[in-house]
Amino acid sequence: MQGFILHTQKVKDEDLIVSILSPKRFIKTYRFYGVRHSSILNGYKIDFSLDEHPNFLPRLKDVLHLNFSWIMHREKMFIWQEFIRLLFNHLKDTEVIEEFYFLLLEECVKRFEKQNPKRVIVDAYLKILEFEGRLFRDFICFSCEEKIQNQITLIRAFLPSHNHCALGYEFEEKKIKYFYENQNSRIFNDEEIQNLYNLIKEGL
Ligand SMILES: [Zn+2]
Repeated sequence: MQGFILHTQKVKDEDLIVSILSPKRFIKTYRFYGVRHSSILNGYKIDFSLDEHPNFLPRLKDVLHLNFSWIMHREKMFIWQEFIRLLFNHLKDTEVIEEFYFLLLEECVKRFEKQNPKRVIVDAYLKILEFEGRLFRDFICFSCEEKIQNQITLIRAFLPSHNHCALGYEFEEKKIKYFYENQNSRIFNDEEIQNLYNLIKEGL
């Protein structure tokens, strides 16, 4: 089967606990050091099989690294691994998982080839919020519960607020609306993308 490595943890000498996001499951596996080495790095997509053990984590075996065309692009890889860390923290206590997350990562890998990776992550995060029912489309300030107009300040998890009610980044209401309706961040300039990206880094 296939999956994305979301996290690795060293245990006992060189053994690893490897957390993998497959289409339907979030799997914690154990990988023994030795035998045959293949790359186990956060964010890598792999083909693999499991040796189930009744009283222990399944063993990870037959690992084949499935390369991305941009894997040698340092900045893209850095941004990718940053997103993977955030996603791991978000999903780590889940076991049965909807295919949405795996498919989203596959889409991101493709879009990373040609697009600004931060824009790709911003779009992906909007899809996560929408999928999880956490996207606030009516601009009511989370702090004072009054309507917000013209300029929307967003904070972590894209919660909307007035500029004077919370510390975040300000955006034009019409741009946010466009972004939410089209699920595409093309309306934002690079500085705005960076600001949205900074909010994502605070945690999914
Ligand atoms: Zn307010």
